[in-house]
Amino acid sequence: MSKLIFEKGARGRTGASLPELDVPLKDISGLIPPGLARKNLPLPELTEPEVVRHYTELSKLNFSVDTNFYPLGSCTMKYNPKINEELANLPGFTHLHPYQSGDLSQGALTLMYNLEKSLSEIVGMDGFTLQPAAGAHGELTGILIVRAFFKDKGEKRKKIIIPDSAHGTNPSSARLGGFEIVEVETDGFGGIDIGHLGKVMNEETACLMLTNPNTLGLFEKNILEISSIVHQAGGLLYGDGANLNALLGKSRFGDMGFDLVHLNLHKTFATPHGGGGPGVGPLGVKKELLAYRPLPVVEKKGSRFYFNYDLPKSIGKVRSFYGNFLVMIKAYAYILSLGGEGLRKVAENAVLNANYLRTELKDYYDLPYDEVCLHEVVFSGNRQKARGVRTLDIAKRLIDFGLHPPTVYFPLNVPEALMIEPTETETKETLDYFIETMKKIAHEAEVNPDVLRQAPHNAPVGRLDEAKAARELDLAWRAK
Ligand SMILES: *Cc1c(COP(=O)(O)O)cnc(C)c1O
Repeated sequence: MSKLIFEKGARGRTGASLPELDVPLKDISGLIPPGLARKNLPLPELTEPEVVRHYTELSKLNFSVDTNFYPLGSCTMKYNPKINEELANLPGFTHLHPYQSGDLSQGALTLMYNLEKSLSEIVGMDGFTLQPAAGAHGELTGILIVRAFFKDKGEKRKKIIIPDSAHGTNPSSARLGGFEIVEVETDGFGGIDIGHLGKVMNEETACLMLTNPNTLGLFEKNILEISSIVHQAGGLLYGDGANLNALLGKSRFGDMGFDLVHLNLHKTFATPHGGGGPGVGPLGVKKELLAYRPLPVVEKKGSRFYFNYDLPKSIGKVRSFYGNFLVMIKAYAYILSLGGEGLRKVAENAVLNANYLRTELKDYYDLPYDEVCLHEVVFSGNRQKARGVRTLDIAKRLIDFGLHPPTVYFPLNVPEALMIEPTETETKETLDYFIETMKKIAHEAEVNPDVLRQAPHNAPVGRLDEAKAARELDLAWRAK
């Protein structure tokens, strides 16, 4: 473990060398109430190089997509091009104030308008809101729109159908929106069980929330049939498009029959994840749902852009101001720099990379749904578990080889799941190193399982008590 900064340095050491003060010091002793004034504040005393080395060392403890391969399934940890950061740092953008008038914000409004149009084109929707700050927030916004839509029509629909493989945020958002959850099962090919869907879908169902490609990384082959079952019963089809990598320029949610869909700019559109935010989880809707979008919406009159607050059916605001504007710049720059052809290549390479890993590793790890996958592949650690090695041990061992573990134990319908998403930004050499390491680990599980059970061996920290770390988080240093 690295030392804390308080454990470094020595009395009297300093990072500054300035001439003696030659003006009289003002007496400020009466300004701080006596109860709040600290008498003994043992601040560390260090030289400038000690300070610089301390923080540089800390920064190197971070694992990131800028340092190494990060195959986190369902999370799309792709490289974030630095040019997008540069553009978002232009003073014309960073010096904007959220309270500035529309007349003085035409550039920003144009960008938001054009980004909404681009996203609409990419997924085949009639309009977007950029306000939600994350994928889950986009889901909640969508669910509130579904609720408002049916309330408006005078229909009492209180149920939402969600597949057993869904991302955990789906049932959470539906529940938060006041709905009851009905689960639909997965068939033997990893898609929705159509027979079961027909049974659970009825006039009480508001919508089906569906991820496509689903969380097994498989395209929902029966999507048109699913869409017609839902629509015939008067329901809406909600799309979870958090991970759009495999579909870019290839197929569109709107054309498959989805009525609304959220995207994650911090996954597919290469903006940083940023520790839970700030991100943007824009929500796209078809024509009949446009009026329910959060206010304000960006509109155009003649050649002028403006915020329209006059939307009587709107669900209201879901975030302060208009959302995370600087993130929108990065995503828009990403879309413009790649163009239609470039976005299509993203999808092709993401799918190619995932299938390369699938075919190279399927003899070493169980593949419960042995199908051509899209942007990610889900293995099971069942074979290794029979040797007393859990998927968690495999994940921890990868850290020893400088690799970030994939998503594990998700989706829930695959026991000991290892969900691997290489993304399109990795070279063949990186993928080959990952494959070689995974094969080595499979071999260790056979001959030396203990080395896996005690991994990681060369990380700054070993196994953490994850439950305790989450519930009794203690990050504060206190003077003794
Ligand atoms: C990441 C993800 C979400 C949630 O997005 P956040 O931005 O983390 O809230 C929802 N659904 C799927 C399928 C995801 O992968």
